[in-house]
Amino acid sequence: MLAAETILHCLTNDDFSETQLSKYRKALAESDGVNELFKVRNFHQTMGKGLFKGMVMAGIQFVLGGSIIKSRLEAISDYLHLKKVKDIYRTDTPSENKKGNIKYDGKLAFDKETDVYYSGSTHEEKQPAHLKVLDLDICYGKCTEEYQNPCVRFCPANVYEMEIDEETGERNLKLNFSNCVHCKTCDVKDPYENIQWVPPEGGGGPKYTMV
Ligand code: SF4
Repeated sequence: MLAAETILHCLTNDDFSETQLSKYRKALAESDGVNELFKVRNFHQTMGKGLFKGMVMAGIQFVLGGSIIKSRLEAISDYLHLKKVKDIYRTDTPSENKKGNIKYDGKLAFDKETDVYYSGSTHEEKQPAHLKVLDLDICYGKCTEEYQNPCVRFCPANVYEMEIDEETGERNLKLNFSNCVHCKTCDVKDPYENIQWVPPEGGGGPKYTMV
């Protein structure tokens, strides 16, 4: 909204100079949103130091309104924490039993499709997909070998499905983008940064409600 207001101001004054455009940065710095987020900045980074130390540091910073740590701490991208299948199971082809099967009882634990239903997520059927897989060769090649396509697991809405032809063994990545609940996990966790999430058309997505 602040960016739109800045653009409107520039359009009506026919002035796109650096001075006019820099008003966006100033408005953002003074906005309620940024002030609210200032208290919890560095949370991710402090928790990376371990649970106890992280809780103490994040807690003190929160109480002091975000001012104990003077500047923004360096953060390591989430996808760099992902371990390869071989590093965890000591084999490239762990059995399904080793990976653990979750049982959904429909009372305390729900399967992903049911969760999507409860999220009330909707998207216009004919809109362009708001998820882009940049290079499918990576999906069918090194991502399969090294990580066994983690997108089919970490996506909470079953957006990514890897279909495997039983006869030829050929893989086909299917995207059920209308299921997306906009958590952006795929955007930050894909080991090759091969998935790009862009805002969908027309305000689609989960139905946020407190009732
Ligand atoms: Fe799945 Fe990505 Fe949508 Fe999250 S943002 S629900 S991981 S497709």
